[in-house]
Amino acid sequence: MRLESEVEMVEPMDVPGNAYNVSRGQYHSTPILGGVRQFGGADGFDKLLGICDVDLYVPGLNFVFGEASLAEGVAIISLIRLRQGYYGLPEDDGVFMERSVKEAVHELGHLYGLSHCRDSRCVIFFSNNLMDTDRKGPTFCPRHQSQLERAMGR
Ligand SMILES: [Zn+2]
Ligand SMILES: [Zn+2]
Repeated sequence: MRLESEVEMVEPMDVPGNAYNVSRGQYHSTPILGGVRQFGGADGFDKLLGICDVDLYVPGLNFVFGEASLAEGVAIISLIRLRQGYYGLPEDDGVFMERSVKEAVHELGHLYGLSHCRDSRCVIFFSNNLMDTDRKGPTFCPRHQSQLERAMGR
């Protein structure tokens, strides 16, 4: 089993302007999380995953692929660094899709209460860089798989 859940897409929202940091040329992901929460909160979604295409950071890190707030049930990922083109390489849709799935499943894992894994193959392993993302699989190690299933009430 992976993450088998009912998924609903909502209308696109604008990236909140107050998240932009002019000197860094990047967006602070935490205010965007707040925006996603407000945006989807009224519809009573259990968990919300925002997908954006701007470069994200949190203070203390050069960039992040995503961020999750377990307390709020909201997560966000950015696609921008998952494309080969970002690194001056020819685009590869397959690779891009794999990376996007991994980062989305990673953040959703956090929303189900999972913490980072020490196993570099587990999808909840922290990606410090793209090599980490490419090395890990799209699935959870056995320990996190069973933790996830418990969290999902299975
Ligand atoms: Zn993480
Ligand atoms: Zn694990």
